[in-house]
Amino acid sequence: MKNLTILISGASIAGPALAHWLIRYGCSVTVVEKAPALRPGGQAVDFKGETHRTVLSRMGILDDVRKLQTGGSDQLLIDAEGRTLAVMPGEFTGGELEIKRGDLARLLHDRTAPACEYVFGDSITSLTETPDGVHVTFERAAPRTFDLVVGADGIHSNVRRLAFGPESGFVRFLGHYYALVDLDQDFGRVGRMYNEPGRMAAVGGPKAPAFFVFASEPLDYDRYDAEQQKDILARTYAGMGWRVPEVLAAVRRSSSVYLDSISQVRIDRYSRGRVVLLGDAAYGNTLGGFGTGLAVVGAYVLAGELAAADGDHRAAFDAYERVFRPYAKVSENGNAGPFLAPGSPSRIRMRNWMFKYRFLLAWMMKMTDKFATDIELKTY
Ligand SMILES: Cc1cc2nc3c(=O)[nH]c(=O)nc-3n(C[C@H](O)[C@H](O)[C@H](O)COP(=O)(O)OP(=O)(O)OC[C@H]3O[C@@H](n4cnc5c(N)ncnc54)[C@H](O)[C@@H]3O)c2cc1C
Repeated sequence: MKNLTILISGASIAGPALAHWLIRYGCSVTVVEKAPALRPGGQAVDFKGETHRTVLSRMGILDDVRKLQTGGSDQLLIDAEGRTLAVMPGEFTGGELEIKRGDLARLLHDRTAPACEYVFGDSITSLTETPDGVHVTFERAAPRTFDLVVGADGIHSNVRRLAFGPESGFVRFLGHYYALVDLDQDFGRVGRMYNEPGRMAAVGGPKAPAFFVFASEPLDYDRYDAEQQKDILARTYAGMGWRVPEVLAAVRRSSSVYLDSISQVRIDRYSRGRVVLLGDAAYGNTLGGFGTGLAVVGAYVLAGELAAADGDHRAAFDAYERVFRPYAKVSENGNAGPFLAPGSPSRIRMRNWMFKYRFLLAWMMKMTDKFATDIELKTY
């Protein structure tokens, strides 16, 4: 393919996965990431089914992912006395191949870093399209011009805001928030999840030291202010039973708190001129369970279509839209909030009940596999 210069915003999963393919097709790739270094952390993310496996294999990283896989483990759904009410099996929570998000980001970064440019601690401040490129200014680096710009910068995408408009036009709040908190106290190796209506608190197990999901009106807070987020958790979880007061005391001592809304991205078209969106920026659905698979398959399709069109971005972006949008549709349907934090005692019982019957679980797994494989992968 024609040697294109491509700027990717975001170095988590979608960005480095795309860099992988673009390098292979002969492009000059720069990845700009706002964080000062590759971001560690996050819960485990997962891959499911033949399509994800095929793309990882074509990337040549399937074995590496397998070596790093965490192996989904069961999560106990408990009552206020800590008694087990039901078991959410590892195969349900962890998909087919589960890996910590930070480990996957590291693997993709290390594979691509020798052949492209990573710029950490910077962010795009403006995008101006000209007849033959996009003029880009940055918070820190000097301005540069690229043939194409890709927004792989997550659900709160900066590129989407600059090129398409404010977040409120594309991101729908789904009525719940979630928080991930690293704790200095060990609550046990086995994952335990405790619910009261509209509130869920989980500790232990391989996912994250503490994981919260709660129903709420939209909250006004600073996503980069950990103390404010601890206050929100303290307020929301006040008076909750089981060991939650003890967990909240540990949250207060934590230096790593991340609280965000459960939201969904809806956008009519993934590209505008020479700017295109990939991963959560284009079809994110928080905790929906498909984000990482969509990011990796999306990167494969977007880069493949650019190569097939010999760098003609108009033809390639049209094809990306045509081929990928039906597959990404799954992100428009799910909402993990009411499942993880059901709103009433009867809904909590019903959710727990689903895990008591193998046939129901088998059906849910079958549906998940169907969505994850619902695309015919071209060989580019
Ligand atoms: C720290 C972290 C923890 C996560 N934890 C989980 C989890 O526990 N479970 C789960 O299912 N999913 C989690 N996710 C989301 C998951 O990674 C995605 O749903 C999926 O893998 C798709 O990835 P993505 O690369 O499109 O978006 P993301 O993984 O959200 O990555 C977006 C990247 O863009 C960067 N970025 C943001 N703004 C800018 C900017 N202005 N300029 C440059 N770069 C920018 C971010 O720092 C980030 O590295 C997490 C993401 C992150 C970043």
